[in-house]
Amino acid sequence: MDKRSKITPKYKAYNLSNFQNIPMFKSQPKSIIDAINIVGRVLPFKVNNYIIDELIDWSNIPDDPLYTLVFPRRLMLTDKHYAAVEKLIKKKASETEINFTINEIRKELNPHPSGQHDNVPLLNGKPVSGVQHKYAETLLFFPARGQSCHAYCTFCFRWPQFTKMEGEKFSRSRVDRILEYIRINPSITDILITGGDAMIMNSTVLGIYLNAIIDAKIPHLQNIRIGTKALSYWPYKFIDEPDSDHILRLFEKVNKSGLHLAFMAHLNHPRELKTDAVRKAIIRIRNTGAIIRSQGPILRHINDRPELWVEMWKTQIKLGIIPYYMFVARDTGAHHFFSLPLVKTHKIFYKAYRNISGLGRSIRGPVMSTNPGKIQILGVTKFKSKKVIELIMLQARNKDMVGKPFFAKYNKKATWIDELEPGGGKTKFPFE
Ligand SMILES: *Cc1c(COP(=O)(O)O)cnc(C)c1O
Ligand code: SF4
Repeated sequence: MDKRSKITPKYKAYNLSNFQNIPMFKSQPKSIIDAINIVGRVLPFKVNNYIIDELIDWSNIPDDPLYTLVFPRRLMLTDKHYAAVEKLIKKKASETEINFTINEIRKELNPHPSGQHDNVPLLNGKPVSGVQHKYAETLLFFPARGQSCHAYCTFCFRWPQFTKMEGEKFSRSRVDRILEYIRINPSITDILITGGDAMIMNSTVLGIYLNAIIDAKIPHLQNIRIGTKALSYWPYKFIDEPDSDHILRLFEKVNKSGLHLAFMAHLNHPRELKTDAVRKAIIRIRNTGAIIRSQGPILRHINDRPELWVEMWKTQIKLGIIPYYMFVARDTGAHHFFSLPLVKTHKIFYKAYRNISGLGRSIRGPVMSTNPGKIQILGVTKFKSKKVIELIMLQARNKDMVGKPFFAKYNKKATWIDELEPGGGKTKFPFE
């Protein structure tokens, strides 16, 4: 790993069609290459030269956590699914036949978890396209040009959208409708620009959105959040690319306008915070007045050890990043490969939480983003001498439910809320 890069390299993307040109692949065993070709047909695959040159430890593949973060691995598909695709490729089946099977497999991988499509709001009786409004305070905005990423995470819950990207065009009138919707909904204090990765956009496109929001001067709108993994996947975006200064000037403009720019960085592993490039990018972003907060899921094979979280949170605090959410891996895609029992995620979380200073304990977790809301696992306790899991809602469609603890029957194996049963003498969860 060369961590001494001084100037921005040219961005180079690799996918199924060209990954074998990556120099490190000249000497890999066939099993590694087959796995990419087969699993990469079902789940989206894209990587770039920063991740290859500066993040992955090539002496330890395929187990290296940063390799696992982006490269398809044999075990990310079940034996049955893997065999089905492998068979078709071996017998050189037609693309139509392969695509049919791939689509059938995708349908079995719960492509739309947590009812994400139920949240599109209405304005004058018509849907406001490109946004979701689930929690009163925060409007999610999915700009058409922000719906891809600098690389794809193997565990991503938005994976279906990368497998068939919509060619929707940017339209200013759409932004105006969104702003009108915000204006008539005084509960909205935050707009969260998300994707994909909002920082895939250049300063011209991002500028149209941000300037429109600034110029609208909506009194109740306070915060612009930008959801991104660019710090880890392409930090040069903020350093010395031709567009970098324009991007940073936009951030500065948001903050000077009186709005708060919250840079929501998706982080999974302490190594992501070690390169010169990421350190420079963090300093430059913070100098604009933006605050960087971190969030990311806990994943088997990537970060299921408390020491890693201690290191991650401590490093974040030192670099001026505020730990925000630790999520539970969603029940989609390669969930069988990444998921951990809820009770175990809680153990890992608290082993780490106990070993950081109060400045890091702004972190909340482990949290499941479910259809009714964000559910945090508080711990294992007893109710009338029976072992139960205690949970609490941090966010809910129905506000009254926020902050009310509730019980589930103890279950050592459950990895998601739908595998839990109500506990503490109740027959229903409060959100049911
Ligand atoms: C997580 C989330 C938010 C933001 O919630 P905060 O707790 O305010 O960070 C907003 N909308 C949706 C749909 C979410 O999942
Ligand atoms: S950066 Fe975010 S949206 Fe993009 S693949 Fe990773 S998790 Fe998914």
